[in-house]
Order: sequence, then C-alpha cells, then structure tokens
Amino acid sequence: MSVENKVVVITGASSGIGEATAKLLAKNGAKVVLGARRENRLQEISQDIKDAGGQATYRVTDVTNPDDLKALVTLAKKEYGAIDVIYNNAGIMPTSPISALKTDEWNMMIDVNLKGVLNGVAAVMPDFTTQKHGQIITTSSVAGIKSFIGSGVYGATKFAVRNLMEVIRMESAKEQTNIRTATIYPAAINTELLQHITDENSKEGMDKLYKSVGITPDAIDAIARVVNFAIDQPEDVNVNEFTVYPTKQG
Ligand code: NDP
Repeated sequence: MSVENKVVVITGASSGIGEATAKLLAKNGAKVVLGARRENRLQEISQDIKDAGGQATYRVTDVTNPDDLKALVTLAKKEYGAIDVIYNNAGIMPTSPISALKTDEWNMMIDVNLKGVLNGVAAVMPDFTTQKHGQIITTSSVAGIKSFIGSGVYGATKFAVRNLMEVIRMESAKEQTNIRTATIYPAAINTELLQHITDENSKEGMDKLYKSVGITPDAIDAIARVVNFAIDQPEDVNVNEFTVYPTKQG
C-alpha cells in the first residue's frame, strides 16, 4: 500500500520532473529504475540516490524503441525481483504554429510523447495482467486538457495519452486486473523542456509565460509529491487525475 519497497520504472529520469520524482520516491523507500538517453545524467542521479541511502539502477533507454522499454522492465525484475509501477514521463515540447509545418518535429512528438507511452504500457502489461497488480502513471500536460496556440501537435499527443490512461483504467475494471492508472497535467514548470523549441515566436512566448508565472525550481517537486501520493494509496484505490498550476498561471 505504500511507496516503500515498490519497484518503480521512470522514463525521462535524466532531468526535470523525472529526476525529482526518482529522488523523492527513493527517499521514501522505493526501488527506482531510471531510463532516458543521457547516460552521464542517469549515472549521476542514481549515484546521488545511492549516496543518500536509496536504491536505484538505470539503463540507457530511448522510449521510441519498444525493445528498450522491455529491457528496462527486465532490468527492474532482474535487479529487484518485481515491477510495480511504470511512470511514463519522457516527453518533448518543440511547439510551433501548425502553419510552420515543422513536420519532423510533429513526428518526433508523436514518437516520444505518444508512442513512447504506448511502448511503456506494452512493456508492463503482460506482468501487470498476470500478477493482477500494477500502476501506470503518465505525465500529460494542461495542454492535454485545453487547447493552446502553438501546441497543436504537442497538445494532440497529451490529449491522446489522457484517453489512453482512462481506457486502461476502464478495461482493467472490466477485466478485473487491478491495474491502477494516474495521469498528471502539469502547467508551467521550470525544466529543460523549453530548450528544444526551434520556432522563435513560440520560444519567446513560452519564455515570457514561464517567467511571468514566477515559478521556483522547487515547483518540480510538487509533481514528484503527486506521483508519490498516487502510488501511496491502498491497492484498490485509483486516484487518477491531477492538474498542477503555479498560482499565478491562469
Ligand atoms: P525535461 O526536458 O527536463 O525532461 C524530459 C525528459 O524526457 C528528459 O529526461 C529526457 O531525457 C527525456 N526524453 C526525451 N526524449 C526521450 C526519448 N526519446 N527517450 C527517452 N527519454 C527521452 O522536461 P520536464 O521534466 O519538464 O518533462 C517531463 C514531462 O513533463 C514531459 O512529458 C513533458 O511534456 C511534461 N510536462 C512538462 C511541463 C513543464 O512545464 N516543464 C508542463 C507539462 C508537461 P534524455 O534527453 O536524456 O533522453
């Protein structure tokens, strides 16, 4: 029922929300399995966790590759004997107006933000179904609930994962597999996410928004606490949707 001793796979664990969540869950006794592409960051973060007395391991993972996700889950089971939770958090946000036709970036967002989540789901589903226990948590965005200019494709991927999580919840209830789902919709959080925007107007607009809402680096920890809260419920309780806004963001 608690976070303690749960085996939690986290994608996008090399920075931002994923890093903060890995550190908080490990502090609270979870065994965390980190995935992302930057090995040096994964190595540093898992060492930080171990130095603080926690348990962590990692594997270089590209979420667009289904085999990488399977290997990450296999690592969790080999290292810690089980898989209890997957947190599908990896994401990219190169926003731009549709008229700019940045179709390569559209495809990248679909591959990482949508197919990457599907690959995570597929990697855990066989174990979760057999063991009749498991939790799938996904980082969507407030852009997955309402529309924003410049976020046509980013928002489409984030709306899509909202639907996916809800259907997994409903099918699990129907099939009595006891799989819990949680979807998190952060608003502006100061991370590396904006660094990949190539459209100048979008970048300027986002920089302005992020500065105007006055968020502190500690706001990242709010998402980590939400993930912790979702895991920390009784096994038959699904707390499954969370929006997190800075108080200054409308
Ligand atoms: P960061 O850029 O700090 O983190 C993104 C993470 O995703 C990194 O660890 C990155 O690791 C990983 N990633 C990107 N592409 C891949 C890939 N192909 N395979 C594996 N990992 C990948 O930003 P955030 O922490 O803010 O982002 C986390 C999630 O939160 C994303 O899904 C984002 O859409 C969502 N979000 C963020 C908001 C914000 O304001 N910050 C608001 C709403 C939602 P690496 O490069 O090492 O692979």
